[in-house]
Amino acid sequence: MEKDLTELARRMKYFMDNYDCAYTYVHNVGETQAIVDYQDKVCRFCGKRYPEVKFRKKAHAISELVGNKEFVLRNECDECNIFFGHKLEDDFGKYLGLGRTLSQIFGKEGIPSYKDRSGSWRIDWTNKGWVIQMKPDCTGVEQHEDYMIFHAVRDTYSPIAVYKALVKMALSLLPYEKMPFFLDTVAWLKEESHLVSKYNMDNYAYMIERFIPGPRPLELRASGFIRKFDSYAVPYYQFLLEFGNYSYQIMVPCKTKDGLLEKVGQVDFVQIPGTDETAFMQSIFGESSSKLVDMRKKEKVKNECFDFCLSFEKSEEHNEEGRKIDEVLKEEGIELEKRLK
Ligand SMILES: [Zn+2]
Repeated sequence: MEKDLTELARRMKYFMDNYDCAYTYVHNVGETQAIVDYQDKVCRFCGKRYPEVKFRKKAHAISELVGNKEFVLRNECDECNIFFGHKLEDDFGKYLGLGRTLSQIFGKEGIPSYKDRSGSWRIDWTNKGWVIQMKPDCTGVEQHEDYMIFHAVRDTYSPIAVYKALVKMALSLLPYEKMPFFLDTVAWLKEESHLVSKYNMDNYAYMIERFIPGPRPLELRASGFIRKFDSYAVPYYQFLLEFGNYSYQIMVPCKTKDGLLEKVGQVDFVQIPGTDETAFMQSIFGESSSKLVDMRKKEKVKNECFDFCLSFEKSEEHNEEGRKIDEVLKEEGIELEKRLK
């Protein structure tokens, strides 16, 4: 434990010495938190203004996929909104996959259900907790005494698109006066193809992914850290997104400000102390884990395995034994329409 604290203190010092916290947005205040630029109805991504472009859609500064209902970006036009949704956010959703369900992230229609692609199991959140439906030949769910391991397969996604989705959120929350430093980054985000690019952002395209066990340990929160002085050989802008059981940290590409880094070569990617760490949240559900994920790949990744361990206090197993699942659910007072077909 002592060793851990020293390591945490080292990281805290690194960020205090090198960075200013530009913002921290915390979700669940119960009202809209709007990010508004100086000029109304000018898009911060394409620079176009009304009436050339419209601002009818509600643009989320952080993806709704992670449970955001409050952070809204006024200065994102409908065209950019649709583009980012199709090009980036879809992939982000596929990457998160089963994690969104088991982290109990509220989407547009409540906590998303998950149905495995093999069709042999599904999981739904109900009024009585999780309901897992499995076929007799199901191998995707490992049952243990007080936990289960789910072996899922991610839908096809492109790693660079997932990374770009995080960059887009980081730029949505960035104080507007810093946007001119990110013209290349915006142009890169808006490229039609991930495969053919004018820009090489490979040095940046990594993320620190953390998993914090337990029932929804983290509220949705986004923080931005901007380098204090340009003479420091650290990345200009780092972004941290925390929600449910996960946190994602990225270095946001900033070619204009990171010239020095290119000369220095190898750059340390130091983990921002997470809210769970700085609050010294003790988890009875086990230690958090963190890994560096390479997001440089532009091609699609197919059939990637994704395991999730879910621990529980109490579980009940029902074999149909001639009874219909409808009868079992009714008997238990569980409200669930969806069935494994
Ligand atoms: Zn736009």
